[in-house]
Amino acid sequence: SIDDIQDVTFEGSHLDDVPFLGLPEVAVFGRSNVGKSSLLNCLAGINKKVAVVSKTPGRTQQINLFKVHDSNGPVSVLVDLPGYGYAKLPKALQSDIGAQVRRYLSDRPTLRLAVLLMDARREPQKSDLNMMKYFRAANIPLLVLATKVDKLKHEDIEENLGRLHQYFKLPVGMPVAFSSVTGVNKRAVWSAIRDACVG
Ligand code: GDP
Repeated sequence: SIDDIQDVTFEGSHLDDVPFLGLPEVAVFGRSNVGKSSLLNCLAGINKKVAVVSKTPGRTQQINLFKVHDSNGPVSVLVDLPGYGYAKLPKALQSDIGAQVRRYLSDRPTLRLAVLLMDARREPQKSDLNMMKYFRAANIPLLVLATKVDKLKHEDIEENLGRLHQYFKLPVGMPVAFSSVTGVNKRAVWSAIRDACVG
């Protein structure tokens, strides 16, 4: 059960050639500054900072690995990929990040779930649609989170998430509202990760 999650440990950063740790993987995708590091910190617990939240968008260009442990030992790996779509980055660096993400995805039989983050306050983004098309074509299960909902009024959350749901043609219940500040739906995210990695 998710109450049995004991620990999340940092397992290193890689530019390319992300090692296989012999465990099912869950990879986290999204545009730069969408809240990937904050999600990982939130999942790991409040007191333990496993992923460093960057103040400068686009600065995290490494692929970071985290191992999830329950009382029986390691159960899965969380993969934090570089954020795409940060307009202020030089074009060459943006395409490097695209190549890194593509290369990771091109040979990843251990990947069980893609978690795609989008900012709940923003219009639907073409770059997210492109990522989604890839996951659909490759038959990779997808969990879509709408982040930073603590910054929205209740009625705006419903409206914005409805817009994302329609634009991306998502299944019922997606995107899932998320905030690393309030921790809303943290358990639902852990459940999806666990479900994707059993069996
Ligand atoms: P990353 O580039 O996707 O890893 O994004 P970060 O996790 O570094 O977050 C980018 C900025 O958004 C930081 O200033 C965070 O404090 C802020 N942020 C991230 N998630 C949330 C959230 O759920 N609520 C609020 N209010 N701010 C958030």
